[in-house]
Amino acid sequence: MELQILPLTGQKPRVTDESKLVFGKQFTDRMFIMEFDRPKGWHSARIAPYAPFSLDPAALVLHYAQEIFEGLKAFRRPDGSIALFRPMDNIQRFNRSARRMCMPEVDEAFFFKALKELIRLEADWVPHSEGTSLYIRPTMIATEPVLGVKPADQYFCYIILSPVGAYYKGGLNPVKIWISDEYIRVAPGGTGEAKTGGNYAASLYASTEAGAQGYDQVLWLDAVHRKYVEEVGSMNICFLYDGKVVTSPLKGTILDGITRRSILTLIREMGLEIEERALSVDEILEGAENGRLQEAFGTGTAAVVSPVGQFTYRNRTVSLSNGRIGELTQKLYDTLTGIQYGRIPDSHGWIEMI
Ligand SMILES: *Cc1c(COP(=O)(O)O)cnc(C)c1O
Repeated sequence: MELQILPLTGQKPRVTDESKLVFGKQFTDRMFIMEFDRPKGWHSARIAPYAPFSLDPAALVLHYAQEIFEGLKAFRRPDGSIALFRPMDNIQRFNRSARRMCMPEVDEAFFFKALKELIRLEADWVPHSEGTSLYIRPTMIATEPVLGVKPADQYFCYIILSPVGAYYKGGLNPVKIWISDEYIRVAPGGTGEAKTGGNYAASLYASTEAGAQGYDQVLWLDAVHRKYVEEVGSMNICFLYDGKVVTSPLKGTILDGITRRSILTLIREMGLEIEERALSVDEILEGAENGRLQEAFGTGTAAVVSPVGQFTYRNRTVSLSNGRIGELTQKLYDTLTGIQYGRIPDSHGWIEMI
């Protein structure tokens, strides 16, 4: 397929003070978009000025949420070059999500080429300061205008870019976690493994309630026993328990995070043992009190690692490492961001330069 590059029609005002960049509020001048029609397939791939869409009010995505997305980042190196972190892993996961949601897959090589071309054209939007990046949001939506419940015959697939500020300003800050015994994120057999908007819509009620009570994130328990840890907010979660790293297994209800995967590789290389099993609420509460639970942290593209300072379940609150950042958590953060920004050599083949 050919990739058309359309001329810019204007340029947006920039946030020049990079310390004022807010996550996901500003977008660059251009976007990538391609369209799908059955039986023709994908067509009209182009890099065009960033602009609103015209969608039929009956478009299937607006009624039945047939939608998927991805999230990855481009990092500015000290020498001015731009690095992507494991982009093919995101593109492959995009296609896995597409299959689960009965949407058409994209050609991985073509999609990667289009992504790189878009970032090359928008290179001066990649911020320079410590900890900043360009957030990349591939998305696919069902556009066919019909009210019958069925997989659409028409789609838009697009990529938008947003410069983002440093997630942590002045060191990692530990978060307060509310363990929900009432709400769940997904059940076995559901769409937990797909990066699809509906999972997020379903999570809003619990996260709003947690926020109103002063917590930063919700820890989701499994839907069957309401007892075993699944994920935290929209991150995977790891625990340092009895000197071993424990993290929930990929059994269809949690997202196969690329940060999770990378962190597990680094942990293995540090010589620590990993147990992929679901920790129980009791193990968290008792472990925090008797010292067996030493550290806990969320993992995801936005925060990289997010240390947990305390957990609250029903009326019981427990603290971890006196609310300070654990040694392992800090080391993993420094190593992974070091690889991303080029301070540490990439011995895993995770980096793709633009
Ligand atoms: C995106 C996401 C993650 C983190 O995945 P990364 O690839 O590490 O960014 C974790 N959980 C959920 C529910 C997600 O949507």
